[in-house]
Amino acid sequence: MNVDVLAFGAHPDDVECAAAGVILNITLQGGKVVFVDLTQGELGSFGSVESRMKEADNASEILKLFGREQLYLEDGNIKNNHGNRLKVIELIRKYKPRIILANAINDRHPDHKKASELVSEAAFLSGLKKIVTFDEDIQQEKWRPEAVYHYIQDYFIQPDVVVDITDVFEKKMSAIKAYESQFVSANDSSASGILALLSQIESTNKIFGRAINVHYAEGFTVERYVGAKNLLDLL
Ligand SMILES: [Zn+2]
Repeated sequence: MNVDVLAFGAHPDDVECAAAGVILNITLQGGKVVFVDLTQGELGSFGSVESRMKEADNASEILKLFGREQLYLEDGNIKNNHGNRLKVIELIRKYKPRIILANAINDRHPDHKKASELVSEAAFLSGLKKIVTFDEDIQQEKWRPEAVYHYIQDYFIQPDVVVDITDVFEKKMSAIKAYESQFVSANDSSASGILALLSQIESTNKIFGRAINVHYAEGFTVERYVGAKNLLDLL
């Protein structure tokens, strides 16, 4: 199976908040995108694992995802170890993505940096044939994506690439609102948590948009140079 994008997040809602716009740009054009949640977000202060799963399903529908996987790593204790790298490699080889999206390279939540390093190393190692993995007893072929992009989350990080998401901005916000229970406690009927989050995301997307003279954009950092055959392709 070949998908366009395999998008990893330490917690359900990480990719939605930081990169749902670029995902919609691809899926609305018929592209195939699969999300991988590394944990169930079981340490989240509000809602339950069950409510989060239901919300993730709703968000997946809004984003027209081709699929969504769960790796059941430990929330708050994501480790970049051999066993976890193999789990990530198995999914990369299963879906053969052109692009991988990963967590921010540095962030307030320590899981984000660790997830970023775990996915980044697995993306490289997945291209080595002597690392042997199986999918239902069948040995998998090596696969290395063409690019790994890290989205930008809570901490401001200078992006290397910004992508115009103006046309899909409202739909992106709908996907984030699917996670309302994560940001609203039972005692907080004012829903201030979700409003603060939405306003923070809007501000960040406006700042990145300003850099390329559009209303809203998402920013990413790259691990290698961004290459083009023709400079005009970058316009
Ligand atoms: Zn997170």
